[in-house]
Amino acid sequence: MKQLYIGGRWVDGAATTTTRSPSDRSDIVDEYASAGAAEAALAIEAAHAAAPGWGLSGVQQRADALDAIGNEILARKTELGTLLAREEGKTLPEAIGEAARAGTIFKFFAQEALRVRGDKLASVRPGVEVDISREPVGVIGIIAPWNFPIAIPAWKIAPALAYGNSVVFKPADLVPGCAWALADIIARAGLPPGVFNLVMGPGRVVGEAMLNDARVNAISFTGSTATGERVLMACARRRAKVQLEMGGKNPLVVLADADLDVAVNAAIQGSFYSTGQRCTASSRLIVDEQIYAKFIDTMASRMAQLKIGNALHAGVDIGPVVDGSQLEQDLSYIEIAKQEGARLVSGGDRLALETEGYFLRPALFADCAPGMRHVREEIFGPVASVLPAKGYEHALALANDTEFGLTAGICTTSLKHATHFKRNARAGMVMVNLPTAGVDYHVPFGGTKGSSYGAREQGSYAAEFFTTVKTSYTCA
Ligand code: NAP
Repeated sequence: MKQLYIGGRWVDGAATTTTRSPSDRSDIVDEYASAGAAEAALAIEAAHAAAPGWGLSGVQQRADALDAIGNEILARKTELGTLLAREEGKTLPEAIGEAARAGTIFKFFAQEALRVRGDKLASVRPGVEVDISREPVGVIGIIAPWNFPIAIPAWKIAPALAYGNSVVFKPADLVPGCAWALADIIARAGLPPGVFNLVMGPGRVVGEAMLNDARVNAISFTGSTATGERVLMACARRRAKVQLEMGGKNPLVVLADADLDVAVNAAIQGSFYSTGQRCTASSRLIVDEQIYAKFIDTMASRMAQLKIGNALHAGVDIGPVVDGSQLEQDLSYIEIAKQEGARLVSGGDRLALETEGYFLRPALFADCAPGMRHVREEIFGPVASVLPAKGYEHALALANDTEFGLTAGICTTSLKHATHFKRNARAGMVMVNLPTAGVDYHVPFGGTKGSSYGAREQGSYAAEFFTTVKTSYTCA
């Protein structure tokens, strides 16, 4: 059984869980310890005790540890990617890519540890000097989702450690294996005991314990908007620092002058890769009515070529949905869309393959209207809704007509419209002639409106959340 990691030791939990592959329910991945409130409290205590020492550690020590972790992840990316594909259902190439990205992120933050910036300003008072420094926040509680089970924890854990914080990491309950494998690598990097702790376990128990413990100075959360709101309220009550990355309902606008191949590729990748289970998925395709019929026909013929199957098999484009309840959610939204009067062009049915898994043929709905529920709510599956637009201004208005604001994309050959869209799309990340999903690891990540709250993740912008600013006055 794979254990929890608390205070530099592998320990049992309050219970155990067994995970199975969503591609093949007869494939048992492993057995894992599951923490209760007592283990969560122990992990928080260990991180709290370790925080001051790690905060004073030399930046070279932090950089060396992070670099070693990054190297090990990169060396084992195929093994980690295979585990990810088996446990979460991402196709093998995507899963190996995700593992490699995690390694690169650790190596990036190894360098960032050496670049913690300060500032010096002249005081308005003669003889006084002002120094502005960035200091560790203390204990960071990390609560992660299941859909990027290695990369998202990496882009939270690496900056937390780089800037001198200790960590309590709670992964999503569906993916303890990826979390454990990452923790196993971190545990071998020679960090002082308590600097990094892993507590697998249910959100309602372990997550809540982290939210409500005054020793946790900050929470970095990624997950659904509903849970994010709960996290925000709990942090507000005790004035803990908080960063939330939540849901999306991302538009991809296709103008009449777009290169159709570019647009259809962006739509297929953005809507259906990772089985549509990405916060950045292109779930709303807003297509100029002049090319609407041709776009839908081309999409449908490309979708017919997608190979759906076991995430571990070669040549598979779309793996399974992550579990039974997500599959039920996807199927119920497909029913809702039909009842709302949207036209099902392709897919949308459960697939029985050679193994018992949660396979769903990607669904494309045409003739959708902005008020329909399946157009407004995040489904988090391989379901795309096409809305017709009467020219650019209408398309932009439809794109912005959402409570979310993570990514927004446009396919066009017009520099004028691309430039206008970059300025006026109400989203944290804007893509031109690219899928709405697919981001770099070294630049800011985050959204606006209901998608995000607090400081940006990734790149050097991560310092904003994982450090606190101190202003010192000295009279010489
Ligand atoms: P979720 O159900 O909200 O869970 C996210 C995390 O919160 C899990 O670790 C979960 O633990 C934990 N949790 C649940 N209830 C909690 C509580 N009461 N207190 C504290 N923690 C609690 O989301 P998910 O289904 O894992 O992930 C899918 C969602 O994440 C989608 O909405 C997607 O858009 C979003 N997402 C956003 C981004 C982004 O960067 N914006 C990236 C990826 C995913 P359990 O697993 O144990 O329930």
